[in-house]
Amino acid sequence: MGKIFSSPVKNFSWLEQAEQDFDVIIVGSSPSGCVLANRLSEDGRTKVLLIEAGETNSNKLWTKIPATWSKTLWSSYDWQHYTAPQKNLNNRKLFWPRGKLLGGSSSINVLIYHHCAPSDYDKWEEMGCEGWGYEGLRPALLKSERYTPHKGHEDVNESERGKDGPWQTTFGDAQPIMKNFVSAAEEVGIPYNPDLNTPRGTIGATQFSTFVDQKGHRSSGATAYLTPEVLARPNLTVVTSTLTTKIILSSDGKRAIGVEVADDKKRMGRLTIFAKKEVILTAGTINTPQLLMLSGIGPKEQLEQHDIPCKHDLPHVGQNLQDHLQVPVLFRAKKGRTMDWLAGNPIMALPALIRWLLNLKGPMTTNCAEVAAFFRTDDPKLNFEEPDEKMPYVSNANPGAPDIEIMGVPVGVVKFGHKQAPKGTNAITMMPYLLQPESMGSITLKSDNPFEYPDIDPNYLSTQTDVTCLVRGVRTAMRIARANPLVEDLALRDVKDPNMVSSEEEDVYNLGDAREEKLSDEEIAKWCKRKAETLFHPTGTARMGRSIEDSVVDTKLKVHGLEGLRVVDASVFPRTVSGHTMAPVIAVAEKAADIIKESLNADFYHD
Ligand SMILES: Cc1cc2nc3c(=O)[nH]c(=O)nc-3n(C[C@H](O)[C@H](O)[C@H](O)COP(=O)(O)OP(=O)(O)OC[C@H]3O[C@@H](n4cnc5c(N)ncnc54)[C@H](O)[C@@H]3O)c2cc1C
Repeated sequence: MGKIFSSPVKNFSWLEQAEQDFDVIIVGSSPSGCVLANRLSEDGRTKVLLIEAGETNSNKLWTKIPATWSKTLWSSYDWQHYTAPQKNLNNRKLFWPRGKLLGGSSSINVLIYHHCAPSDYDKWEEMGCEGWGYEGLRPALLKSERYTPHKGHEDVNESERGKDGPWQTTFGDAQPIMKNFVSAAEEVGIPYNPDLNTPRGTIGATQFSTFVDQKGHRSSGATAYLTPEVLARPNLTVVTSTLTTKIILSSDGKRAIGVEVADDKKRMGRLTIFAKKEVILTAGTINTPQLLMLSGIGPKEQLEQHDIPCKHDLPHVGQNLQDHLQVPVLFRAKKGRTMDWLAGNPIMALPALIRWLLNLKGPMTTNCAEVAAFFRTDDPKLNFEEPDEKMPYVSNANPGAPDIEIMGVPVGVVKFGHKQAPKGTNAITMMPYLLQPESMGSITLKSDNPFEYPDIDPNYLSTQTDVTCLVRGVRTAMRIARANPLVEDLALRDVKDPNMVSSEEEDVYNLGDAREEKLSDEEIAKWCKRKAETLFHPTGTARMGRSIEDSVVDTKLKVHGLEGLRVVDASVFPRTVSGHTMAPVIAVAEKAADIIKESLNADFYHD
């Protein structure tokens, strides 16, 4: 407790009384905000202020234990967004959690460490983002990482992983049933890949690396980059429970000179803070575009609808939203083969918790999403039927990259892990998801009130390619479940029409119990529309690109047409990546830190 009270992290009331003298203001402690707060203050000279709407991460146990990540959802440190009704998903509003605490979503996420596909970044370069191809970003991926080898993964080439960075990664102990998932994936034609994070790319089936430290604790943006030593720097100030409500522009409207903030808990007390050199937005894919628009920077027509004077017409703010859509498919398993005992029984889980608290690691160090299979749905080895000979299916994948990932989880995942498999049953879950959706949506304002959440419309499954791709992903999951050796662990039945549901148990298991080869694409698509959920990876709403015509920021991550204002978070991705977004975001921030330091150094030289 003493540690918490002596925390160097400040709050809004401190800010009200503080003497203001900041060179750089960073808005939002997303993983990229944490990277920048660390890197920009490491010279001991640049005075940095990091502003976070949520609280500190230091006293929140569920954020530290890898296995309890889902307990953070719907908590006081989750923003708890919901999308607009999705017309292609039976008009459902989907739950979108986002972390509201130091570290942002990196403090509540599933801890999967993934570089994604090299050609994802080459695509960025092709789209006009010079220097942001794989060769340009790989040094930043390696700079951030401190990989600790793990027994059973001797086939990972350590020299291809980072070893001196602040962000700790390793492997956990996968359950035998999950190792059988990997073998079964090989059986259906997806090769084994010992390491998803190399220049050779990410196609294949394997166990995930996770961002877990040597004590078995989560290594988040906050724990890795905002260590007690970093927080003790006299030139770094971190303020929590403080919502940034507006960016302040100079009187000629050409330069960002500061921000307006409010007490997030009391929802009042506006205060203006000035930045001598830069304001950097790292408030994430939802809040960054909202904040730009609240400040009069965005699509003119939309701003006028909300009586916000347009100071800088920037049509792409809030546009180009992409997200990864997944379908959880549960398969009945034999008793004793899964980890349902850990998820569903607090008494059984207690010894595991005590073991973890004593730093003895154990089952609590699993992130649950232990394994995955990445593949292309146009791979002839997987033998899918062409839907229409005249209009053959064309995958949206990048060259040599996958378009589907199937995650394997050794428990029955219902409601993101908040509910377990039906009583008396055991399950594993496979989550096929679209890696390169064509569907794009937007973040738009509901009002000019900074406390009101914006409208989130990811526009899921709005193209036939996306529907076909997802259906092929689900088919492959069903094939893996019926392949050796996994099928021996499972207790599958034979359901003819999965969409005929008359009990909660059937609602959970019908698709997993059905035979893929007997189902039409339409029958599978019908199930997907009822069950699909987010995989939590929104990107692109302030994307990087050539000009105001196609994007929001340039290749130095400066907002087009404005001085002193940058964006550095997942909203700058020109197009989504083929996997999990956090390592790419951290790499973007590491690279951005070098770019910003160079420009700050030039400024200091002129001062
Ligand atoms: C439940 C979940 C599971 C995930 N699992 C994985 C995974 O296993 N692996 C992986 O690679 N990725 C995962 N992700 C995605 C990954 O965490 C994000 O891509 C990453 O955190 C970057 O997101 P972001 O840039 O949108 O910002 P976020 O991480 O969402 O952070 C934004 C921060 O800004 C703060 N903020 C927002 N508005 C304001 C404001 N106006 N003033 C002050 N502060 C503000 C927020 O409170 C928050 O701290 C997951 C995400 C979630 C939510």
